[in-house]
Amino acid sequence: MKLNLILFFFCTLVTISWAQSPNLSKYNEEIKKIEDTVKYFEVEKINDQFYMLIGGGGNVGVFVSDKNVIMVDNKYEIIEEVLMSSLREITSNPIKYIINTHYHHDHSDGNRAFGKMGVPIISHENAKVRMQKVTQLYGGIYDFIDGFVQDKYPTEALPIITYNSKLTLSEDGEDIEMYNFGSGHTDGDSIIYFKNANIMHTGDAFVRYGYPYVDLNNGGSIKGIIEVLGSIASLANDQTVIMPGHGNLSTKQDVLDLKKSLMNLYQKTVLGLEKGLSYQEIADSIDETLAADPVMPGAELTKLNYIKSIELELNN
Ligand SMILES: [Zn+2]
Repeated sequence: MKLNLILFFFCTLVTISWAQSPNLSKYNEEIKKIEDTVKYFEVEKINDQFYMLIGGGGNVGVFVSDKNVIMVDNKYEIIEEVLMSSLREITSNPIKYIINTHYHHDHSDGNRAFGKMGVPIISHENAKVRMQKVTQLYGGIYDFIDGFVQDKYPTEALPIITYNSKLTLSEDGEDIEMYNFGSGHTDGDSIIYFKNANIMHTGDAFVRYGYPYVDLNNGGSIKGIIEVLGSIASLANDQTVIMPGHGNLSTKQDVLDLKKSLMNLYQKTVLGLEKGLSYQEIADSIDETLAADPVMPGAELTKLNYIKSIELELNN
């Protein structure tokens, strides 16, 4: 009897812990691929103090001050050495702060390495909340993200400074403004504006791979990201250098062009749904299809998925 009871508790415990352990297979697959393929980053120099590191995850922004480095995003923990060797090509200054544009692994997984080293991390308060949980990303727009589970970050990898709507950091005569313009790519996006240099890192609130991914499971909003693009454009001027979360350096006009395309798609979708049109009929009613990046699935399919996602968002 006693043995049965012990066995019962043991089995219950095993079942509970099995049920709670997240399915990280897609995450692990991605990490393996990154480890196997990313051996260096392309370093794009904007001026003597600003650089962009390209490849293996979201674009990393580097600001080299007189004595320090402030880094925006940090790609993946697994390629921290690659990141550091690219950084050391630029400067030997120590990293004073890391700013996370949002909680997604391809931008902030490096927190696991840099947090351990004691580098202070800054993010929007909602990004930190997401990092403290196991999260499942919304797959609807891009099928290959379906079922992608991101593990929670350990305590040392969490931001130690967070803010709500705006935070300003001053370093070596540069004012670094962080803004949250509401729900867009997620509910914890930061736009980082180096005011004097007139350089901006948008994180994934603005990207160059076609239709921007929106994480509807984690506070993202398609209607929201259109508004956020408007706020980014309002903050910028015609000379602002814009580092997107993914893709080439851009301008205010590029941001306005994406906003216009998404607004057109959104409005035609709302109208089409009201008329009872099918997703395909709505897609056909929109002349423009944003070209897909080679790593993303076909542009037509993404457009169709976007329309479905807008309907989902409208019904929520
Ligand atoms: Zn992202």
